[in-house]
This record gives sequence, structure tokens and C-alpha cells, in this order.
Amino acid sequence: MTTLIEPASTLDGRHIHYGGRFRAASGTLSIPVGSPATGAHFGSVPLADAADVAAAVAAAEAASGPWAALDALDRGRHLRAVADLARSRMGELASVESAITGRPIREMRAQMARIPEWLEYFGGIAAGLEAESNRLRGGFVSSTSYEPYGVCALLTPWNHPILILVKKLAAALAAGNAVVVKPSELAPATALLFAEWCREAGLPDGIVNVVTGDGSTGALLCDAGGVRRIDLTGGTATGRRVAAAAAARLVPCTLELGGKTPVIVFADTCIDQAAAGAAFAAFVAAGQTCVSASRFLVAEAIYEPFVAAFKARTEALRVGDPADPATDMGPVITSAARDRCLAHVALAQREGARLVTGGGRPDLPGALRDGHFVEPTIFADVPPSASLFREEVFGPVVTVTPFRDEAHALELANDTPYALGASVWTRDVARAHRVSARVRAGMVWVNDHHKNDPRSIWGGYGDSGYGVENGWDALKSYQHKRNVVMSTADTFDDWFAGGKRYG
Ligand code: NAD
Repeated sequence: MTTLIEPASTLDGRHIHYGGRFRAASGTLSIPVGSPATGAHFGSVPLADAADVAAAVAAAEAASGPWAALDALDRGRHLRAVADLARSRMGELASVESAITGRPIREMRAQMARIPEWLEYFGGIAAGLEAESNRLRGGFVSSTSYEPYGVCALLTPWNHPILILVKKLAAALAAGNAVVVKPSELAPATALLFAEWCREAGLPDGIVNVVTGDGSTGALLCDAGGVRRIDLTGGTATGRRVAAAAAARLVPCTLELGGKTPVIVFADTCIDQAAAGAAFAAFVAAGQTCVSASRFLVAEAIYEPFVAAFKARTEALRVGDPADPATDMGPVITSAARDRCLAHVALAQREGARLVTGGGRPDLPGALRDGHFVEPTIFADVPPSASLFREEVFGPVVTVTPFRDEAHALELANDTPYALGASVWTRDVARAHRVSARVRAGMVWVNDHHKNDPRSIWGGYGDSGYGVENGWDALKSYQHKRNVVMSTADTFDDWFAGGKRYG
């Protein structure tokens, strides 16, 4: 275990991180952390209990006042120091993320290299957040200001453990809040490591706190009185529970939830490019991103050539050891996730879909035999009534469905309660505008897929949740906007003595 991650307290099953250091958890139960690629046991983290959550929230509350009082430029300097330290340890971060999530090392190196951008971006823009001032009728001056909430709970998933944590944390901290993070029970290690790096980088104690555990720990955090804002990335069922907990205490929340992302491929698209884009959109992270392409909608005129090109690209993917830089696709996160993918495959076959490629477990050597691998799988001719067309798989199993014309493509794309990501592949500019305006999704990519950048908002609606990450909107969502109205008159306009305040 200590060969995977240092400091050793990270996965010793006894420590959480709050108030600036690792501390023994009061919760006596622990959660094992293992390798999705081999089933090997790396260590464990505590199942934090109510006393742990209360202690972490108290540490954050104590730190939040002085942090909020810092000038935004000084908070920005702190965030850049964390960015610099993270940048210098990218390799270590990528190795641990890859080992614990099973995502290929090439993918995680690329993703980790971008982590500092979020810290630098939010650290920078927070200092540029200008309030407004207006003169009102009657000699009043109205001025606005932005104030942090105080303590924010960040509930994060396992598929991009550090990326999603840092997206939220950078905005929250830049806005002047302290955070208590509850990482996924399936990938908790890098959150603990990151909290320790924040301390090393000079962030004041108590600004970043991490409690490990499962949904029960997350629920305790949502109910903690000191928590004034909640930000969740997770499944839609979890989103409903967190929204209810937030509503019970009238605490605002952001919910980044699931999706069933359509990819619309028009006949004027270069088939080779669309097939390359399709393989990336469907199978990066083994199909385990919220915007993984899961429903390919393809113009009848190019349907069979596209299916053939997509099949060829998919069969060329190297599935195997995540630690090997040549690997394109690793395992899914757990044996339960693997079984869920295979159950979707069996159901699709029973419902009459055409299996184009994949559908089983790959034959891999040595210890990888015990990993949670699923072949990248494509089903064609899948009607909108099929379960596979409707349900989030969260794995490498996708559908292809033909469409007649633009209206039919939109009808198919929008036949879902989710509204998160979508991509549109066409060289017709007018059509690109028309379709991207009408497809039901919070984020639409044209001739690409899954572009994520701190300057580009990220979020969905419908069953995909509400609120956004990234951009000015995310920064502002971590602050109250307040207003002060001041009279500049030298006398009070006395209403009961005939004053005219409503005149
Ligand atoms: P999950 O819903 O199981 O867990 C997410 C987090 O919430 C975990 O930390 C979990 O312990 C916690 N949690 C669970 N129940 C809770 C409760 N009642 N109260 C408080 N916290 C609770 O999700 P997951 O399996 O980790 O991630 C996969 C899901 O996340 C997929 O549905 C995927 O689409 C979604 N996702 C969305 C985005 C996005 O940006 N919209 C990004 C990545 C993943």
C-alpha cells in the first residue's frame, strides 16, 4: 500500500484530513480500496461518522472567516501555490489516479496536466469580480457586493476524482469559502493526498478538509448545520437525495448528475473523422464519464459505412493494463459495474439489437484476469424503445440508430429525461447552429466531443441536475450577492409627514 501512495496515512484505514493535518477518525469501520485492473487490495479509508463530520465542519468554520477576509489577490496567490505544487507532482498524481480508477495512465497524465488550470483560472478571476453601483431616484446610492457562503460541502464521484474535486474546490476557495470534501468511497485516496498538498503549499489550516466514507457520510455532511452550500457530482438518484437534504435546510446546491449523451452524425461529415471522434467519445474512461457518448444517431445515407468505420476503430483499441502507456482502455470501476454492463448487453440482445462488436469480457493475461474488464461494445439498429437507448450504462456499451432527416435526428436525440452533453457532426454551418440550438443538452460540442475548460461552463438540466461548474457563473454561485442602499440626502424624507418615497 505504501508503494502506491505516500504519506502512508492516506490509505491506512484510520486517518481523515481536517484542520491542516491527518487525524485519527472516530469512525471505527473502514472501506477497502482496490485495483479495478487486478482486484489487488491497496488499503482502506475510514467510514467517517457523525463526530468526524462535525469536527471537519468545525475546522472549516473556524478557518472560513479569516480566509474570507483575505483580499481576493491574496487568495489567488495561495491557489497558484497549490497549482505549482500539484504541477510538480503530476506524475505521482496520475499514477495513483490510474491505479485506483483503472483509467489508462496516458489518459490520467493528460488529465492531471490540466489540474493547475482550474486553480490558476479561479484564483485569477476572483480578483476581477467587480460589483455594481447605481444612483437611484431620490438621491440614493445602491451598491452590490459578493460574500462567500462560509463552509461548502463538496461531494465527488470516482470517475475523475481529482479533476472534479479541483473544479469545485478552486471556485469555492477563490470565492472565499472553506470546504469539506467527501470523495467517492471507490476513489478516496487522491482527495486525502491533495488536502495534504494544500497544507504543504501553505494554504491556511482548515480551508480544505476531507472526510472519507460512503453515502451515509455524505448524508451526514449535507445535514451538518455549519454547511451553507452543497455541490454534488454523482448519479441522478443521489442528486434527488442531496437536493431533498439541501431543501430541508434551505441550503443552495449544484447538482452535476447523469446523462445519456447523443451524438448526431450528418451525412456531410467525413466518416473517418466521425468514427475517430466516436471511438473517443464512447470509450475514453471506458465509457465512464457523465458525457460519454452513448447514443449514436446517424444519417441513413452514411449509416452502414459509419457503423463499419466505428467498428474498425473500436476493434483497434488496446484494452489492458492501465499502467501500460500503450493501453487505450482499462477496466470499469467494480465487478458490480462490469456485471451491470454485461446485463445491459444481454438485455439488448434479447430485445433484438444487432451486436456489431464486443459484448463480453476480454481475454487478458495474468493478474488482469481478475480485473473488471468489459470489451468496448457497439449495438446497431437500436430503437428508442430499447432499454439500452434509454438507461445510463456508465460503461463501454453504446448504441447506433439511423435517422431519416434533421427533424427525426432531433426527435431521437431529445427522447430522454437527461439534458447534459450532446455532439453534432456536420460541415454545414447553418445546420450546426440549428441543431445545436434545439438539442436538449446543457453542453453541445460541434465536430468534437467532451471539451472541458475552466472558461467554458459545464452543467445540465432535467434529470442531469442544475447549476454549473466552470466560468464566472461557477465563481458567483459560491457567493451571495448582496446590496446596500444608502441615502445621500441630508434629511429623512418623512412619509408620515407627507414625504414622497413612493412617488
Ligand atoms: P454516486 O451518486 O454513487 O456518488 C457520488 C458521491 O455522492 C459519492 O461521494 C457518494 O458517496 C456520495 N453520496 C451517495 N449518496 C449520498 C447521499 N445520500 N448524500 C450525500 N452524498 C451521497 O455517483 P458515482 O457512482 O460516484 O459517479 C457516477 C455518476 O456520476 C454517474 O451517474 C455519472 O453520470 C455522474 N457524473 C456526473 C458528472 C457531471 O458533471 N454531470 C461528472 C461525473 C460523473
